[in-house]
Amino acid sequence: MSEPTLRVTEIFRSIQGESTRAGFPCAFVRLTGCSLRCVWCDTEYAFHGGAEMTVADAAARALALGTRLVEVTGGEPLEQEGVYPLIGRLLAADRTVLLETGGHVPLDRVDPRVVKIVDVKAPGSGMAGANLPANLERLQPHDELKFVIADRRDFDWSLAMVRDRDLDAALVVTFSPAWQSLKPETLAEWVRDSGRNLRLGIQLHKVLWGDVPGR
Ligand code: SF4
Repeated sequence: MSEPTLRVTEIFRSIQGESTRAGFPCAFVRLTGCSLRCVWCDTEYAFHGGAEMTVADAAARALALGTRLVEVTGGEPLEQEGVYPLIGRLLAADRTVLLETGGHVPLDRVDPRVVKIVDVKAPGSGMAGANLPANLERLQPHDELKFVIADRRDFDWSLAMVRDRDLDAALVVTFSPAWQSLKPETLAEWVRDSGRNLRLGIQLHKVLWGDVPGR
């Protein structure tokens, strides 16, 4: 059987910028391609191109970066079959594996040891129709939900979903401002006054280095 391959945009070491692990050193494996087109997407450079490599090679490069945390991201990582053996190799090397996913691909094949950071697409993304409600039933207490908020309409829509499903009772639910669409301080006030246990997400890597690839 031929060795599984992946199309990879970049593998690099940085500081984890999102999620509750923000601030820790982290290796990132950014897989190429995504079938969605979120209005505010900040990784359009990962839609096309990339380099083909074996899963073994991608895992080795990520592990060589020497971080305890490894995040598999994209693009949409779950749109490539090779993501599953990649995750397996990273877990076998005793890494804490984070998976950033847009929420439009079923999560049922993801190893339960993986910390899933799952987007819920609000209307301002233009992709709210792609959310898979069944994915919300597959989350574990260590997983996290992320809503990117572009405006007040997004906030109200997202808050209603959190309330209706009581999502913040069992999960970390992060609301992050869409980069250059909504002021972080505005969202901070909305989160503060929401009456729910929401977490304000600020993309630490962009505060540090700006919106550039490889960071
Ligand atoms: S799901 Fe993620 S990678 Fe795909 S378009 Fe939306 S933000 Fe970009």
